[in-house]
Amino acid sequence: SGRLAGKHALVTAAGAGIGRATALAFAAEGATVLATDIDATQLASLAAGHPNVTTRRLDVTDAEAIAAVVAAAGAIDILFNCAGYVHAGTLLDTDDDAWRRSFAINVDSMFHTCRAVLPGMLERGVGSIVNMSSVASSIKGVPNRFAYGSTKAAVIGLTRSIAADYVARGVRCNAICPGTVKTPSLAARVRALGGDEEAAWRGFTDRQPMGRLGEPREIAALAVYLASDESSFTTGTVHVVDGGWSN
Ligand code: NAD
Repeated sequence: SGRLAGKHALVTAAGAGIGRATALAFAAEGATVLATDIDATQLASLAAGHPNVTTRRLDVTDAEAIAAVVAAAGAIDILFNCAGYVHAGTLLDTDDDAWRRSFAINVDSMFHTCRAVLPGMLERGVGSIVNMSSVASSIKGVPNRFAYGSTKAAVIGLTRSIAADYVARGVRCNAICPGTVKTPSLAARVRALGGDEEAAWRGFTDRQPMGRLGEPREIAALAVYLASDESSFTTGTVHVVDGGWSN
């Protein structure tokens, strides 16, 4: 039973943060979840105690590994592309490596996962792809997020294109655009800034009109909806979940 009963889901970057919360939310709603991440240690703690979650190490920048994981997985009804990398800086702070790395992890990854998963979805005439974008994208220009915002805008274009091409063949594709969410990577970014961590947290919180950051489960709830048949009339859309940040 559950809102995703009988469905098979593949989640990238399921080891921590939003991906982890979503993998667990999918499982709690009855899905069988293949949870992948580059970090095997994080995956180990995820598999423990969750019988319908299996884990597999996967680096989303490795297209061959993606193809192998998908080939071994069998039917996949839900693909949640959550892996992403935040490069901090303006255009002048961004060298070619940072630019390419940002696109490799945030965009090329989705091209490769979608290309691997789509043939099976089309064959069965059913599928929901959910792609992680951000408010920092074509929605909002955010200072010091030049490469990141560019990649997340590309995710929206990729999402809408897939939705347009397969709209009549049972496959839906939607994007999620969170505001600032309290996750391990945000904590790491705060630590990396050095200096006054409390002030850095205040800085992230102060730009949120609600006066607080988002919680991973608040993003997972949207991912469950988009993955489920409840959203069966929804495709090619961009869902903002940001505590009013972009309003
Ligand atoms: P997180 O740091 O909490 O978790 C990221 C996970 O990604 C980690 O488990 C890490 O091991 C994994 N990962 C990193 N590189 C990988 C790779 N090459 N292949 C596979 N897995 C890899 O991150 P989060 O904050 O939950 O972010 C998840 C997604 O949400 C990202 O796409 C991010 O851009 C997006 N997002 C986050 C926020 C936020 O404020 N946290 C806001 C908007 C969008």
